[in-house]
Amino acid sequence: MTGASRGIGRAIAQRLARDGRHVVGVARTPENLAETGAAIQAAGGRFEAAACDVGDSAALAALVEQVSERHGRLDILVNNAGITKDGLLLRMSDEDFDTVIRVNLKSAFVACRAAARPMMKGRFGRIVNVGSVSGLMGNAGQVNYAAAKAGLVGMTKSIARELGSKGITANLVAPGFIETDMTAVLPPQVKEQALPSIPLKRFGTPDDIAASVAWLTGEDGGYVTGQVIVVDGGMSM
Ligand code: NAP
Repeated sequence: MTGASRGIGRAIAQRLARDGRHVVGVARTPENLAETGAAIQAAGGRFEAAACDVGDSAALAALVEQVSERHGRLDILVNNAGITKDGLLLRMSDEDFDTVIRVNLKSAFVACRAAARPMMKGRFGRIVNVGSVSGLMGNAGQVNYAAAKAGLVGMTKSIARELGSKGITANLVAPGFIETDMTAVLPPQVKEQALPSIPLKRFGTPDDIAASVAWLTGEDGGYVTGQVIVVDGGMSM
């Protein structure tokens, strides 16, 4: 799983490890990955850190291949790594658009393509892409991010159709407003405005998202594919 070093990804890694999975966690920063690993191992779980920039397609594809070869199988892929480079349309640079598409969308394509072969060989696979309600509703200032996250929806549904007959499911979890480093940088007034629009009257936690990933990748989620699971306290309905 990617983006395992902080926030939602760390919670997903911890939850999957608690459920007995051997987790290989990817991120750029080894020190933060080590913290995730220490927390998982202290709780008796299994975790391997793999430092990699998911925006480097060749490195990511090679990593997925190495991991599946080393372990002889690959059951679950969670594409969670993501970044924002917000800006209004008129001021958004080509570079900020391309970077967000590469890190948030293309990386998932590269990882899914690399994971498909070992999953097909094992006739089993669970793919979860982490999208966003921004990709469903749009969000002013996030043309690049919303495009990437909306792209993940079409990609996930296409993969679900292509690989369903091989025992592989593909779903997308779309978080709403979750308290992590990504939202900590937002101005206080943005948060104050967002809260009343959430029927459950609280921001989400990384564990809220981890629970849905655990369900989709566990036994109880086995007949669910091609779906968008919105976990946003009702914000986007
Ligand atoms: P976060 O706290 O900023 O963490 C992002 C994670 O992705 C970190 O582990 C980071 O590790 C990793 N990452 C970023 N760029 C990477 C790269 N190029 N290569 C490898 N790893 C990279 O973000 P978060 O809030 O947990 O978000 C996780 C996912 O949920 C993202 O896809 C985000 O778009 C989505 N999401 C979040 C919210 C929210 O409200 N927080 C809402 C909707 C959707 P390094 O920096 O060490 O590489």
